[in-house]
Amino acid sequence: MEEEEGPEFGKPDFVLLDQVTMEDFMNNLKTRFEKGRIYTYIGEVVVSVNPYRELPLYGPEVIAKYQGRELYERPPHLYAVADAAHKAMKRRAKDTCIVISGESGAGKTEASKHIMQYIAAITNPSQRAEVERVKDVLLKSTCVLEAFGNARTNRNHNSSRFGKYMDINFDFKGDPTGGHIHSYLLEKSRVLKQHSGERNFHSFYQLLRGAKDEQLQALNLQRDPSIYIFTQQGAGLSSSDSDEANYRAVIQAMKIIGFSPDEIDCVHRILAAILHLGNIQFVETESGLEVEEKMLVDHVARLTATPPELVMRSLLSRTVASGGRELIEKGHSAPEARYARDACAKAIYERLFGWIVGRINEVMEARGRDPRRDGKDTVIGVLDIYGFEIFPDNSFEQFCINYCNEKLQQLFIQLILKQEQEEYQREGITWQNIEYFNNSAIVELVERPHRGLLAILDEACTTVGTVTDRLFLQSMDTHHRHHPHYTSRQLCPTDKTMEFGRDFRIKHYAGDVTYSVEGFIDKNKDSLFQDFKRLLYNSTDLTLRGMWPDGQQDITEVTKRPLTAGTLFKNSMVALVENLASKEPYYVRCIKPNEEKCPGRLDEERCRHQVAYLGLLENVRVRRAGFASRQPYPRFLLRYKMTCEYTWPNHLLASDKAAVGALIEQHGFQGDVAFGHSKLFIRSPRTLVSLEQSRAQLI
Ligand code: ADP
Ligand code: MG
Repeated sequence: MEEEEGPEFGKPDFVLLDQVTMEDFMNNLKTRFEKGRIYTYIGEVVVSVNPYRELPLYGPEVIAKYQGRELYERPPHLYAVADAAHKAMKRRAKDTCIVISGESGAGKTEASKHIMQYIAAITNPSQRAEVERVKDVLLKSTCVLEAFGNARTNRNHNSSRFGKYMDINFDFKGDPTGGHIHSYLLEKSRVLKQHSGERNFHSFYQLLRGAKDEQLQALNLQRDPSIYIFTQQGAGLSSSDSDEANYRAVIQAMKIIGFSPDEIDCVHRILAAILHLGNIQFVETESGLEVEEKMLVDHVARLTATPPELVMRSLLSRTVASGGRELIEKGHSAPEARYARDACAKAIYERLFGWIVGRINEVMEARGRDPRRDGKDTVIGVLDIYGFEIFPDNSFEQFCINYCNEKLQQLFIQLILKQEQEEYQREGITWQNIEYFNNSAIVELVERPHRGLLAILDEACTTVGTVTDRLFLQSMDTHHRHHPHYTSRQLCPTDKTMEFGRDFRIKHYAGDVTYSVEGFIDKNKDSLFQDFKRLLYNSTDLTLRGMWPDGQQDITEVTKRPLTAGTLFKNSMVALVENLASKEPYYVRCIKPNEEKCPGRLDEERCRHQVAYLGLLENVRVRRAGFASRQPYPRFLLRYKMTCEYTWPNHLLASDKAAVGALIEQHGFQGDVAFGHSKLFIRSPRTLVSLEQSRAQLI
């Protein structure tokens, strides 16, 4: 790794561009990318471009170069940001968060892993056993969560199908003492069905390919994934790593984390039960609905430690309360039974995932104390959450994911500006507020109480009688016919890219997305018959039973509607944003250079689009509209003292501030800078560029 970078590597900070145009931005991005410089700053924001190839940018030697350094002392890197967050925490007892954003395949998860590895590497110099234990769990948790929450998609062969926010707690020494993971909206529909070219969650293939023969036998499984409907579609596709090797790695990681052999066994039994469940077919006979292959029901019953006759009954019928306390059993039609089976398979997987996250959290529960914060730990949060998604067909999942990105973009705008302004205040610099693009109208459109799209959806879900997706669409049309960010075919009859009675479109900050309302109501209700819940709650396997606490309720008690999937998601987003806003934020903005996962190729059109919607040009402008650069006086001197006779090799003035004053005056830049209490603020990047040039001539 080069410590100094010449002009052939482009500008390490976009703020240093001569002009902020898309052209200049792209040229710089490209120049750097071609030279293997995948990281570039905008102030303290890191812009990262996925290289799709191994670069010599990581590992212990590189980590050592960044440890304890200031952000601009070394070439731009994730390590520098991780170090800055760690320093803020250690020196100032500040909670910080690192928000990683970008579309699927842009490199978010890899970035979060590098950040965690950096933090693990620089902490616990005294090798305290309890800290090492926490670090082990933190690092191993990734492997386990990826097995159960990631899948091969067309965009990314190891795509995270859930959002993840991880808090790492630190004691006053700056060592990790615990952590907590929040997971968001696992894409559970993937358990049932995958697009062509995609796979189910890795965990299924890992089990089928990695388990020993006798274990498979005990689970009544055969090795070939094409035998099971849920894994058949992706059977011929490989993951980015070997499923077989990963199977062992995941078990190893689970053991290190502290999962007991019984628990690991239970996890495998649940996966197997889901696969068997998926193969169950129903036939209408003269005597009613029947299961085609009864053996499968027995497998499910045995693997879930439940009575086979109850499994059968839950598959073929449901219990309903008919007035008062009277319960009747109502037989399913074949489509109803299929629907119930699928809902059950999805729910079992979702509960399993939630339980795994919960177990990891139990183990990581923080034990450290920071006396500076009344015994509260200091926290670094790392957010790796799905990026903006536009597919050929967009459904409820994309709607939620894109809403999440609107929220995060809104936070980005607010925090970046808020932070700037607070810094000027702190340093005693006068500053005028500047205008910025505001996406709050879109956030409001979705989340506003009563009239927001989620509220309208909830209303459709609670209305008695059959409310169809189509009626839901009509209701949105009525409420938002004049909304600048909402439209539908009904409201815009000439637009043939939308279908009547099916599609609506939101103008997101990142582009227009057309959503089909089909399935919205169903996915939002997210209901599972109480019979299944009770069945699994009554399992004699205590681990499995623990995943179904709500199975305890009586049918007659379950009249109160649970919160809908949309509302739960909204609430979790509001809480997440509140949490992030209370911390000092660092941002990593990831860019996906091409669609083909091709090493070293940068598709300009695609990048331009991402640069535009991530608001990166705006980010540079905001940064420059105030002051392009700010540097603590000592750091500034360190870099530029050779350009001035009063400061080279050492100054004799009363303070570093005075010495910087002399240097600036000698260069004639007094008109372009402001002197803060502890930092020099430079308004135009030209000044910085010419300082850099004077320096370059001397070294
Ligand atoms: P995201 O989480 O944004 O969907 P990932 O982090 O999973 O994307 O990255 C997708 C793939 O891109 C990885 O599996 C890896 O092959 C490649 N990749 C990402 N970041 C890097 C990097 N810094 N160096 C090399 N390859 C990378
Ligand atoms: Mg990811």
